[in-house]
Parts: sequence; structure tokens; C-alpha cells
Amino acid sequence: MEKVALIYTEDYLKHETGRHVEKASRLIRTLEVLENSKIYRDKIIEILKPRKAIEEEVLKVHSENLLRKIRSLAFKGGGRIAPDTIVSKQSYDVALLAAGGGLRALELINEGRFNRVFVLCRPPGHHAEHNRAKGFCLINNVAITAKKALKMGLKKVFIFDFDAHHGDGTQKIFYEDPNVVYASIHQDGKTLYPRTGGIREVGAGGGEGYKINIPLPPRSTGTMALKCLKEIILPIMKEYKPEIILVSAGYDGHWHDRTSDLMYTTETYYEFMKEIVNNARNVNNGKIIAILEGGYDLKYMPYSILKTLEAMSENNWITLEKEPKMSTIERKTVEILIKKAKKVLSKYWNI
Ligand SMILES: [Zn+2]
Repeated sequence: MEKVALIYTEDYLKHETGRHVEKASRLIRTLEVLENSKIYRDKIIEILKPRKAIEEEVLKVHSENLLRKIRSLAFKGGGRIAPDTIVSKQSYDVALLAAGGGLRALELINEGRFNRVFVLCRPPGHHAEHNRAKGFCLINNVAITAKKALKMGLKKVFIFDFDAHHGDGTQKIFYEDPNVVYASIHQDGKTLYPRTGGIREVGAGGGEGYKINIPLPPRSTGTMALKCLKEIILPIMKEYKPEIILVSAGYDGHWHDRTSDLMYTTETYYEFMKEIVNNARNVNNGKIIAILEGGYDLKYMPYSILKTLEAMSENNWITLEKEPKMSTIERKTVEILIKKAKKVLSKYWNI
């Protein structure tokens, strides 16, 4: 059993987005489910507040221009910073608190208080680029956390992103950086926003080989995604030996979530984290920070997050949800994808 810190503040609800799918009720509903869970009652989860990221920390990833844009839009009372991305009156401060959730997590681990931290924050971050807010994201929480980890003296950061959408912002920020591995399993960009994340996007310059992309075809199940994790991403993680593992935890791959065509179940999220935990134990004494990205199905997302937390705390869980079926041809397509990805990546890794 391992205690898990859950970083959360009601201030995360103050990023007001109206009828947008990325709305405050995602967190309200999740907290209700978590507070009724056994791991919460047994005090295995401890809820702690984030701190605000200071601008200097954010500027390690983003431009002054982007921050000015978000700030001035918020000051004017809000508006759209991108066609799909809203800024409200308090969004700038809330975004600093979301990024600060990851920073607080690093500090908790550094102080030796926790090995596992989940940041239940919004707005999400993995589509935000150096100079551009988009895809519901204002600033890139996981990237700011990774940069801070490097600043604190770590040399090897591993980001695993299981959101249904490719984390194009995060990948771009670290594209030439060998100190940050970015590994993502997502729905194929040919069929989903943001259109990136092909197997040949492996990084550039000194960072070549350190970006790992597994683009699953629509209707892929959790079983197939786990196969990709076990056969490609985990062996690379083992070889890389990261000092910290960051997880971009997005829950929109659930088969009930309308924003993707993947067919994950709540159990998929348990299994993803269980595999990461089992590997982390051998590579970095199990230090893991998960940061919330997407996930918009208000019924299933809270339970998927609960499953992640159960796996992080090394609690067992009984399967409740049946996995949708994939046809033989669909399964075969994923098998071929795994072979192709292995071929591309075997130039850099022993897989
Ligand atoms: Zn997403």
C-alpha cells in the first residue's frame, strides 16, 4: 500500500467555460466519486492544495507574448484565445494554479513525503505550445513540471501520455531534448485532433529517438493499447531509467467519451497505471506524478480516475466493466502498427 497525494483546490472551478465540454463539473463530479471511495475513507488518498506557479517557472516553457495574451483577455473579462479554447476572468490565475499543482507534486516528492501524486486540475495542458494556447489548453502543466524537474537537477524525465489525443504541445516543446522522453498512445492523427503523433515523429537533433508515438486506429480497445505499452513503451522506459515519471492522464479514450473513437474501459486506466507502477519500482523507486488532461464523460471519467488512484496506491480492484469487442481485422491492424513502430524505434532502443 502506498499513500497518494491528490492535489486539488476549488479555485480550479473558477476557469469558467459555460457550455464547453471542458467544464468545472468534471472535477466536481470526480471529487464526489473519490470522496465516497474506500481508498479515501481509509485515508490512502490525502487531498492537498497546489501552489501558484510563478511566471519565471512558466516562462521556461512559454513565451512572454502568450502569457500577456491570456492575461489581457482575462483582464477584459474573457473571450476565446483559440476557436476551441476559452479564457474567463480568472483563467490566468487558475492556469498558474494548475501548473503549480505539478510543481507542488515535485516538491512533495523531493521532501520525501510522497512517492505518488495525482494532480486533479484544469484547464488541461498537453496541447499548449511555447507561443500558442489551443485544444482547451492555456499553458502546458506537464511541460512546466518537467522543466522544473530538470532545473532541480534531474537529468532524465519520462512523460507517458495516455490521453486519446496526441500531446502535440508537449512533444513540440521537448522535440530536440534528450533529457525528456515523451511517449504517447493516442488515436491516430489521421482520424482525430490534433492530427499529429505518427510513428515517424521521433524527435530531432540531440533529441532524436526520444519521442515515441503509437497512433491507434479508431475502435482500438484497452487490451490493444496495453499491448503497445508493454511491448514498446515499458521496455524503453526500463532502458532509459528515468529519475521521475510524469503521466499526462487523459480519460477521453473511454468508449463512452464522445471526443474520441477509442474503446477503453475504466479497467484500462487501472492497468495503464499498474504497469507504470510495477516498472517505476525498479527504475526510480516508484516516483510518479500524474496530471489530469482530458476526459469529458461525466459518468465514467470519475471512475476511471479512481481506478488510476487505486493502481497508484497499489490497491487491488475487481473488474466491473466489460470490454467492447474488436474485430479480427481491427486487431490485426494494431498488430501491424506495433511491428512498424518497433522497426522505427529499434534504431534507438533495444526493442
Ligand atoms: Zn484529449
